[in-house]
Amino acid sequence: MFRQARYDEPLIFEIGRKNTSKSERNNVVPEKISRKKLPEIPSLTEPEVVRHYTRLSQMNYGVDTGFYPLGSCTMKYTPKIVEEIAGFEEVNLHPYQSQSTVQGSLRIMYELEQMLKEIGGVDDVTLQPAAGAHGEFTGMLITRAYHESRNESRTEVILPDTAHGTNPASAHMAGFDVVEIPSEDGMVCLKALKNALSDKTAAFMLTNPNTLGIFEENVCEIAEAVHDAGALLYYDGANLNAIMGKARPGDMGFDLVHFNLHKTFCTPHGGGGPGAGPVGVKSFLRKFLPIPQVEYDEKKYYLNYDKPDSIGKISPFYGNFAVLLKAYVYIKLLGGNGLKNVAELSVLNANYMKEKLKKHYPLPYKNLRKHEFVLAGSELKEKNARTLDLAKMLLDYGLHAPTIYFPHLVDEAIMIEPTETESKNEMDKFIHAMIKISKNPLKNYSPKNTSAGKIDEIGAAKNMILSWKMFKEKK
Ligand SMILES: *Cc1c(COP(=O)(O)O)cnc(C)c1O
Repeated sequence: MFRQARYDEPLIFEIGRKNTSKSERNNVVPEKISRKKLPEIPSLTEPEVVRHYTRLSQMNYGVDTGFYPLGSCTMKYTPKIVEEIAGFEEVNLHPYQSQSTVQGSLRIMYELEQMLKEIGGVDDVTLQPAAGAHGEFTGMLITRAYHESRNESRTEVILPDTAHGTNPASAHMAGFDVVEIPSEDGMVCLKALKNALSDKTAAFMLTNPNTLGIFEENVCEIAEAVHDAGALLYYDGANLNAIMGKARPGDMGFDLVHFNLHKTFCTPHGGGGPGAGPVGVKSFLRKFLPIPQVEYDEKKYYLNYDKPDSIGKISPFYGNFAVLLKAYVYIKLLGGNGLKNVAELSVLNANYMKEKLKKHYPLPYKNLRKHEFVLAGSELKEKNARTLDLAKMLLDYGLHAPTIYFPHLVDEAIMIEPTETESKNEMDKFIHAMIKISKNPLKNYSPKNTSAGKIDEIGAAKNMILSWKMFKEKK
């Protein structure tokens, strides 16, 4: 099946080639570590390789090919100019370059910090965390450092039952015990919160609007109760898209805020990356931020490592620069009014879809939604199917499935977030498919039209074949 390579042999073949003399090989790599055998890699012709990867790229589904309503993930379209600028030679620099030669990049980072401060209503920002979850972890380390600096031993972090799974994980990783409280009408139950708060509480973590897409209207009372208990209020910024330019977490009383740049400020993501989760804090927490901090002394931009109370380093180098740059370009492109417009349109789109679909799927909480909403797939069960079957059937319509089975408090949850970048036409196609499926859901039927059929998820986990070597060994 595989032929020997026919192209000019690159260095790697030169090293391993049997007919090179020992001295010849020694010129390149010391004998001790030089290859004795040809590397076991498949030999293919160029057209075979090109066709393989082109075919794979065509199997891929992305926001550039279709509607992607993955709730909580804000899979919005990224304008191509953002990608183009991120590819400029001038910004693809080496992290070990001296600071005097990267002033432009440092300025971009500094200005992004300023813009995020303004959007979040916070006093300082670190750009270092590589994802929202990493931002949460950073925020929890800052929370620890803050309470320790006051000689207080606070061991608990409280979360509502709508919290994203990364929240308890981050709190736990930072050494806290997690306390979950119930919701009432899709919002934090204030009474349960007040009962849970004590002198052991380090922080309350909240997403607003929450993962049901509902704005926590008691947020000011929540902030007061949390602060009265001596605890900090943490903002999970994954849903900032719904309110940016309209309301600021800092003004609501949040002390720490993370931004998911890859969600709210576009930058394509998925499959675990790439991302950036900057964290903003109120001034009293500033000294705990990670090092280095990008600063400006009116003459030059520089990296400040001189922060004795800092929680230290949490990322290699200075954060995920390419993502930071894309978010910077996106914010500059839209401007303040543009960001506000994003929030308004994302809310309008979600409510349009909610109104169309609530006649066909139960809508557990009746409140007005922000940028996403959650339906229940419970009635599918009466037809012997489940939300999972619905998700797979949507794939056969050429559509990406919404988020399913999250948040956990909704039975057979279906979480839909259209984002502001979708047209009415695209949303209508999805609504049409959802209505058709609601009438005739088929158990274990789909997907039939996708490049891969039903995936054997257990088999894939138990029988991983991740490399050519593993493939050969399995054969
Ligand atoms: C996506 C998300 C997170 C985690 O963010 P990552 O950037 O994926 O690590 C946290 N909370 C909510 C509500 C989210 O949607």
